[in-house]
Amino acid sequence: MRILAPVILGVVMPFLAMVPETSIAQEPYETTEVADGVYRFRWQAHNGFFVIGRGDSGTQALVIDPISVEAGAQLALEILSVAPDAELVGIVYSHHHADHATGAEAVAAEFGGEIPIIAHANAEAPIRSGGDPALPPPTVTFTDRATVMVSDRRVQLHYLGPNHSDNSLVAFVPDVGVAFAVDFASHDRVGYRDLPDWKFPGQFTSLARLLELDFETIVFGHGPNGDRGSIVRQIAYYDDLQFRVAAAIQAGMTENEAAEVVRSPDFAGWSQYSDWYGLNVRGMYRWLATRNK
Ligand SMILES: [Zn+2]
Repeated sequence: MRILAPVILGVVMPFLAMVPETSIAQEPYETTEVADGVYRFRWQAHNGFFVIGRGDSGTQALVIDPISVEAGAQLALEILSVAPDAELVGIVYSHHHADHATGAEAVAAEFGGEIPIIAHANAEAPIRSGGDPALPPPTVTFTDRATVMVSDRRVQLHYLGPNHSDNSLVAFVPDVGVAFAVDFASHDRVGYRDLPDWKFPGQFTSLARLLELDFETIVFGHGPNGDRGSIVRQIAYYDDLQFRVAAAIQAGMTENEAAEVVRSPDFAGWSQYSDWYGLNVRGMYRWLATRNK
């Protein structure tokens, strides 16, 4: 694993202080080669992803998630530092949320020309209604599966159904068995806060479908990389959460009581457990309470 060009910027320290797991003297960004020509670009607590292909069409690059205008500009420089002659063939949005999708033009500016922006079809409406000039709408959309050629290399984009959003895609590079999944899965980390907009039971279905992809290594939108076991444990985590919250509802607890009382010793060591587990209980409670009506 190769670490490229870490740089220290004092300005990120107040932000990092709010994110306990990343506060241990982390650099604000770093590029890591996960497999041959496949890179994770970490910017503060967010991860983007890029793939370099080399072949008859020359050297080409594909970006998934620019993260922000500032991050996107740096991401472009990171690509050019590992592949100075690269042509950018596209920018993909993992889903429509601004904290991952912002900054496409900042990436494109380093390469010139019209760069296609690729997303799931459901991402287009919320991006258009958001009207953020730093988050341009996709120019190419798909509904189920798409393949992007990056020189001689194939990058597959898979829609696994609704989960953290209704337009989350998974990027998969089959020749090295690396996948990139954002926000609906992570490595030994609980879900985000009270699981805002999370779609159940789609969350369960898409984690199971993720395992149908033949990956060995998986990069996440936040936190460290994982493997197939990480996804097996995510499934176990959401199953356990559902089981415990259903038992609390069965016992007549209100949402507030459940958030206070329900705990899961099996997952207490996970990232963000102490801050977000009670909130995850609330998110699960709301789904089960509506479902049971
Ligand atoms: Zn998100």
